[in-house]
Amino acid sequence: MEFVLATRNAHKVSELAALLPGHTLRGLPDEVVLPPEIAKDFAGNALIKARAAAEALGVAVIADDSGLCADALGGRPGVRSARYAGEDATDEQNLEKLIREVPVGSVISYVCVIAVVVPGGEEFTVEGRCSGRMAAGRHGTGGFGYDPVFLADGDPQGRTMAELSPEEKGAISHRGRAARALAERLGA
Ligand code: IMP
Repeated sequence: MEFVLATRNAHKVSELAALLPGHTLRGLPDEVVLPPEIAKDFAGNALIKARAAAEALGVAVIADDSGLCADALGGRPGVRSARYAGEDATDEQNLEKLIREVPVGSVISYVCVIAVVVPGGEEFTVEGRCSGRMAAGRHGTGGFGYDPVFLADGDPQGRTMAELSPEEKGAISHRGRAARALAERLGA
């Protein structure tokens, strides 16, 4: 099938395209304005974006929303992960705040929800999760965001997400798992 991916992030388009063989993904045309992400869960925000773009364009749309949930913070920052340290916070500021507030060794999880909306047709969401623990200090330079402190349970060598290659990260990450669930659902 052919989809528009409702994101301004070109990296996400190529990453998801690689994970969805047999389907075609196009970037979001400049004229489409995405609404603010005001839902209280990842699925709600992914659907807000996918529905808005599908309505504006009249074509099938994929949108995703993701973030980090810390058990020690009752699930925060969650849907506010990109704005954890403030509305215009950088990844670095968000990471510093997480290091200040989350105890080393406590459980943290990444969540990714991908929504699909077909105009006049079906809409559904798929979810991918990846659990881990808060590392003591930062390790690695790969990935982005909270990766330098995320010790993934799925890595037998006990590395952080920032120490994994993109392929190793995709094999166990929330986004990789959600994309594979989507590929299965689409029959690719
Ligand atoms: P979004 O889905 O692009 O809106 O991402 C939301 C926020 O969640 C990002 O800004 C990061 O703070 C965090 N996040 C989501 N996925 C990852 C990941 O794979 N590594 C590190 N941080 C992530």
